[in-house]
Amino acid sequence: MTKSEKQHPTLLPIVRAVSDLRGEIIKWRNEGRTIGLVPTMGALHDGHISLLQEARRRADKVVTTIFVNPTQFGPNEDFTKYPRDEAADVEKLIAAKCDLLYAPPVTEMYPPNFSTTVRVGDVTEGLCGAARPGHFDGVATVVTKLLMQALPDVAVFGEKDYQQFVMIKRFVRDLDIPVEVVGAPTVREHDGLAMSSRNVYLSEDERARAKQFPWVLNTLAIDISLRPNDVAQAIEKAQKLLADVGIDRVEYLEVRDAATLEPMEAFDRPARLLGAIQIGKTRLIDNVPIPEAE
Ligand code: AMP
Repeated sequence: MTKSEKQHPTLLPIVRAVSDLRGEIIKWRNEGRTIGLVPTMGALHDGHISLLQEARRRADKVVTTIFVNPTQFGPNEDFTKYPRDEAADVEKLIAAKCDLLYAPPVTEMYPPNFSTTVRVGDVTEGLCGAARPGHFDGVATVVTKLLMQALPDVAVFGEKDYQQFVMIKRFVRDLDIPVEVVGAPTVREHDGLAMSSRNVYLSEDERARAKQFPWVLNTLAIDISLRPNDVAQAIEKAQKLLADVGIDRVEYLEVRDAATLEPMEAFDRPARLLGAIQIGKTRLIDNVPIPEAE
């Protein structure tokens, strides 16, 4: 039993095995309750909690999952140093009135000889898919497993990871998984920086520079909205602006169809502006909708 299970034996039940998760959920099903699922990797912040609140609005019982999924990290990425603090997460989940925490160990999710990968084409090409080979395979596989394990009515994901959200909607449709996938808007710090568990990696100086990223994204989105035929030119200008405000590297800055993620040369249908940058050693992603011109 972990420290948090001892501290909060009844306030937040914690299960670590699929069989126990299903045992809890079947009890609720027998009472006629609906189930909402919120998958996370822990190190919870207000962005995660907003997903939980959205799930609460749509379902009777909310299950949060915490699993730092090794298969979605590349060999040179931050799997081992990814922030983990289950005791702090449990406090936040109790405050947010989560009904159940599912926090399986790696061996529960990937038993010996695990051999299956869910690979989604099309929407995973480009953007983060280009820089992080295998990442979306890992996410699609683990999210498929979590959905099959819990069989919720609704599952809530953040628009912060927009490509991931579109991919999840796509494979849930393609594989006929009986769940409603809901997106929730990005929760931001007071200065506009999108909340992320990885923001703790930023030094004070890097954090000060990071806040320029959402500001440049918003400026660019308005620019494109006002001059819908000059997308490439507006992006070029914004790339220079990012360099000027101290962003070390722009990995991508692209306008994509909001539903299909198809690249767009002109703003002629609902669109999303997506970006990835690097500050020091930290990679940050963010995205905003492009507003319709008045
Ligand atoms: P993570 O723990 O980073 O894997 O994220 C778990 C879920 O929380 C995903 O659906 C993310 O898109 C979502 N999420 C992360 N950051 C935010 C944020 N700032 N606002 C809203 N949702 C978020």
